[in-house]
Amino acid sequence: MVRFAVLKFGGSNFKSVNDIKHVVSILSSLKEVSKDTRYVIVVSALYGITDKLVNALKNLQDLEIDNFFQELYEFHRNFLGSDDERLKSVIFSIEDFLQGAKLIGRVPDFVYDTVVSHGERCSAYVLSEIFRRNGLDFSLIDPKDFIVTDGKFGGATIILERTEENILTNMDKWLQNDVIVPGFYGASPNGDITILGRGGSDYTATALGYCLRAAYVALFKDVPGFLTGDPRAVSRPFLVSALSYDEADELSYFGAKVLHYNAVDPLRLRDIPLYICDVTNGFNLNKCTRIVPEKTKVNYCVKSISSSRDIAIVQFKGRNLGRVPGVLGEIAKAVANMGINIKFVITSQTCISLIVSRNDGERVMKLAESLRLNEIEEVTFKHDKALIAVVGEGLLDHHGIASRIFKAVADARINVEMISAGASEVALYFIVPEEAEIEAVRRVHDEFWGGSEYDKNDR
Ligand code: ASP
Ligand code: MG
Repeated sequence: MVRFAVLKFGGSNFKSVNDIKHVVSILSSLKEVSKDTRYVIVVSALYGITDKLVNALKNLQDLEIDNFFQELYEFHRNFLGSDDERLKSVIFSIEDFLQGAKLIGRVPDFVYDTVVSHGERCSAYVLSEIFRRNGLDFSLIDPKDFIVTDGKFGGATIILERTEENILTNMDKWLQNDVIVPGFYGASPNGDITILGRGGSDYTATALGYCLRAAYVALFKDVPGFLTGDPRAVSRPFLVSALSYDEADELSYFGAKVLHYNAVDPLRLRDIPLYICDVTNGFNLNKCTRIVPEKTKVNYCVKSISSSRDIAIVQFKGRNLGRVPGVLGEIAKAVANMGINIKFVITSQTCISLIVSRNDGERVMKLAESLRLNEIEEVTFKHDKALIAVVGEGLLDHHGIASRIFKAVADARINVEMISAGASEVALYFIVPEEAEIEAVRRVHDEFWGGSEYDKNDR
């Protein structure tokens, strides 16, 4: 029986030709040991390209489009070492999108997503070509032909059932050969390219893992996996060797950049293990973070701390809010109708606080004003805050954990402005002023992992 394994390589794994050779050697040795496995390789854009595309759209009116594509071509060509007509046609295939947008003076959503995802189309071709020259024969498949999304531009969700259906009806293709797939995008039900949000290739990989019932999914990065704390705050964080799906989900949802916020979900549905590996270590399960179905046991029930400044707090105040039924429902419905995601909610008798993404804060504030609900007397908006998430299975069942967290923060004279515990069984959140973010993470990390072995002046 053939089994599938899905491997994703990120942009940071493709900074130079040597990096790609390293990826080739990882793939070659994997193929050597497990001959009954079909490999599905998901790739990101070459290093820095997505940002270049985003910037090109930002400055479109001043952009010399011909030069831009010529440079893009040369950049990719240098990885191949010589001119390549097919590469040229891939690179220039979306030139009209930019020309058209420049002409009309604005960038429609479908153009934006088509352009920003272009790095993956280009890298997948370059990589497949380099793989081929090194004896690795992978068929290149375009996700627009089978990954179906909900059509939300900029950050779409993959519709797993429809994607699986598409894959199953073309299963021959997947069984015949190993494949390489550009990550980061799919197509809406009416065929528009939609991106999956920054870092979305992780999500492409896990969604394919789901559809193919893969034995495992491995994401190769330039970091060893999940760490106990953000290296910006903590000079010597430890590698977290194992996490449950819930733990990984909470950490990525609230700030840990190492994993895309939607990536865990598809795997949880089918109990498929996920490995996050540092590409320099190759595929080494002893030196990565394993995200597995079984609840994981470690000495501490606190496993990791993440933080995010991508929050805004919109507060609805009114004397009787807690007593009147339906107010929260009205607000939530209106926010959802705008396509805005509420990260979480804290309510009391006199105040409903919605926590949303920083970019969405102002729109929610305006909406709140236009709702004209009688019960609401005042709406306020704060966006200079950071959210700290302390994550671990069993965190809420162990007495004394919360007091250790808050004492550590209080000792640093940091004001905790809001707390949410109990909404998730594996996480405790609190909000601090944004300038205290780093110090709060450091203090909590010190409390659980000890601070003695590193020097704070070090950084
Ligand atoms: N290239 C895209 C980005 O930089 C997607 C990815 O890397 O996963 O966000
Ligand atoms: Mg990237």
